[in-house]
Amino acid sequence: MDDDLVTRLKAYEGHRAAVAGTGKDPVNLPMIRHWCEALGDTNPAYSGPDAVAPPTMLQAWTMGGLTGHTGRSPAYDELLALLDESGCTSVVATDCEQEYLRPLRPGDEITFDTVIESVSGRKTTKLGTGHFVTTRTDVRVGGALVGTHRFRILKYAPARQRKKPPRPRPVVNRDNAGFWEGVEQRRLLIQRCTACATLRFPWLPGCAHCGGPDWDTVEANGGGTVYSYVVMHHPPFPAFTESDHGADAAGPYAVVLVELAEGVRMISNVVGTPYDKVRIGMPVRLEFRVYDDDLVLPVFRAAEEDA
Ligand code: ZN
Repeated sequence: MDDDLVTRLKAYEGHRAAVAGTGKDPVNLPMIRHWCEALGDTNPAYSGPDAVAPPTMLQAWTMGGLTGHTGRSPAYDELLALLDESGCTSVVATDCEQEYLRPLRPGDEITFDTVIESVSGRKTTKLGTGHFVTTRTDVRVGGALVGTHRFRILKYAPARQRKKPPRPRPVVNRDNAGFWEGVEQRRLLIQRCTACATLRFPWLPGCAHCGGPDWDTVEANGGGTVYSYVVMHHPPFPAFTESDHGADAAGPYAVVLVELAEGVRMISNVVGTPYDKVRIGMPVRLEFRVYDDDLVLPVFRAAEEDA
């Protein structure tokens, strides 16, 4: 039965998911500016009369928005429907890979084709059992290939959670190891460029302001305010829910962007405040919460406004 399903899924490999799609807008400076503002990318290559688009915007030019894009072919929808029918009703984007052949410039008119490159056999992950689907989008300008974008999703049948799962572990790498060493010592460390003294958070290998590679750290004093927040309703993630409703509870929770007293912002949680009572401008105070034997995270708690 499963083998039969895999055969039917694999039959979609090589089929088109989009044919001769066109970008909804030519490459343009306003979208580039919004992107750079959202990411805090101040690279001068992306502004001014000779601006190019950030390479990682490649996918943005092909996006169809709420109304979809031209050129969508039925094969991809059929494949997803087949996976839905087999019980793989959930979806998560797992990763993407991009290749850039030349920079995109304002005025470039995008066309693209998307092919279903591969459908995996049955895989079991912590989320559940399902199939990885990889699509490859070839992006062209004037018929010439300018970049490719591979996008992989997992369509899966969600695993039944019997007990509250642990919080996901942070990804610690050589660029941010110092931050996590600070957390172990219950210190929230902010990187500071030793060339221009610009503070940066999250940790990065170089200074976005001057490009300098050298840095030291300053310890946050722990004060801050909620700069913005979102409330996650779906999908439910029991690991992120305060456990006052029992082990199976997976209710909404707030993700906050805290502006630290030092001026940089970090994503965290406000503990001790119901998700629907979190407000922009709320003064908060840093604390370190022990989640389990090997997970301590910097979180925030509502602070009384200092008189
Ligand atoms: Zn600098």
